[in-house]
Amino acid sequence: MSITCKNLSHIYGEKTPFEYYALKNVNLDIQEGSFTAIIGQTGSGKSTFIQHINALLLPTDGQITIDKYTISSPEKLKQLRKKSGLVFQFPEYQLFEETIEKDIIFGPMNFGTSEEEAKEIAKKVIKMVGLDETYLQKSPFDLSGGQKRRIAIAGILAMDPDILVLDEPTAGLDPQGIREMMDLFKSIHQLGKTVILVTHDMNHVLEYCNEVIVMNEGCVE
Ligand code: ADP
Ligand code: MG
Repeated sequence: MSITCKNLSHIYGEKTPFEYYALKNVNLDIQEGSFTAIIGQTGSGKSTFIQHINALLLPTDGQITIDKYTISSPEKLKQLRKKSGLVFQFPEYQLFEETIEKDIIFGPMNFGTSEEEAKEIAKKVIKMVGLDETYLQKSPFDLSGGQKRRIAIAGILAMDPDILVLDEPTAGLDPQGIREMMDLFKSIHQLGKTVILVTHDMNHVLEYCNEVIVMNEGCVE
């Protein structure tokens, strides 16, 4: 599950007056099993880049290859989205079901897992994010901000992605919540997953990550 970009470019609103060149000929490799940080100023293209890792955005030019999937046909996109789980900034805003269990089983069932099996997966992933099974029948709206974010991450882990991509996942959490969240990613990395983390915090980069990608004005430095 390594990731390779060759001259990857992304233009928003191409051929319109709002055309914006957000990624410019990015060439890089992210190794399988790494814990890779992506840093750079606001507007440097970090979120644009990571949305290519699960084909939420498609290259305007160049290509990105994830394992054996070179981004091309729509049918492969679905398989790729299962391999590479993207956690947006403030993912808790995407919880919408009445119970936590329903939120977690939504993804696996969308990919064809039976309800029974998806519920077993929910029990497993809720523990992975440090909460116990009793949470499954609660409403996601009764939880604290940090707990909601864990549930959103559990929903991604339920699809058993090989690559977990996190866009500024500690934003808005208190210091203890930040520490717990980073330790959660460390434990997920230790399970053998590739973890890609967009962050502003150099201490996190030094303490947790073994690779770093620096972005600046749409380019990788
Ligand atoms: P970062 O995550 O590093 O802050 P982004 O990838 O979100 O950067 O944005 C890179 C640039 O692309 C910014 O200048 C931003 O304004 C622009 N941009 C982001 N999303 C869109 C969009 N949907 N349409 C047009 N421009 C966008
Ligand atoms: Mg961003």
